[in-house]
Amino acid sequence: MVNILMFGPPGSGKGTQSVTLAEKYNLLHLSTGDMLRAELAAGTELGKRMEKIMAAGELVPDDVVIAMIANKIDSTTGKAGFIFDGFPRTVEQAEALQTMLGDRSMKIDQMLVLEVNDAELMERMKKRAQISGRADDADPAVINNRIEVYRAKTEPVIDFGRKASVYRSIDGVGSIDEIFGRLCDHIDTII
Ligand code: AMP
Repeated sequence: MVNILMFGPPGSGKGTQSVTLAEKYNLLHLSTGDMLRAELAAGTELGKRMEKIMAAGELVPDDVVIAMIANKIDSTTGKAGFIFDGFPRTVEQAEALQTMLGDRSMKIDQMLVLEVNDAELMERMKKRAQISGRADDADPAVINNRIEVYRAKTEPVIDFGRKASVYRSIDGVGSIDEIFGRLCDHIDTII
């Protein structure tokens, strides 16, 4: 099994690239953001509890996303591995994932970090706001907060990846195809 963390700030292209990488390498795409939005759309109790936090661009509690990921890992068959998109977002989540995978005789194989400058991120998020229909994309103040939360709580996970020798920096500026090619070059070294 191959387990890849797709990493980078909001708007860096994690979701877009994860979908095509998952297809190419027969990986299950696990996006905690998508899972949480599905809970919201279905009107579940959990969705209702998380709605305000997500609308503000804050992080939902670690135990919520850790449980979601564990459920998916345990209910999946027929895949060559997993591509994690938007998870882990805190060092605690990263440690929980490492333990969870270790308990199942797996590990984090690569952490691919999409590097995109702030000006480009803001530009992309503005464009995405026009098509995504996401409440947290519509408000510039919420977008700024998401980038700040990324810097404060999520970026420290990069150090975790460095220590685990899985960190790879990827130039996240260019065409979608160019960036896809750069990501594949890295993944091909471990497949
Ligand atoms: P995303 O689609 O990955 O940008 O996630 C949208 C929102 O869902 C985030 O701004 C958070 O409020 C919440 N969220 C998604 N993944 C996580 C996570 N791993 N930890 C905490 N909150 C998350």
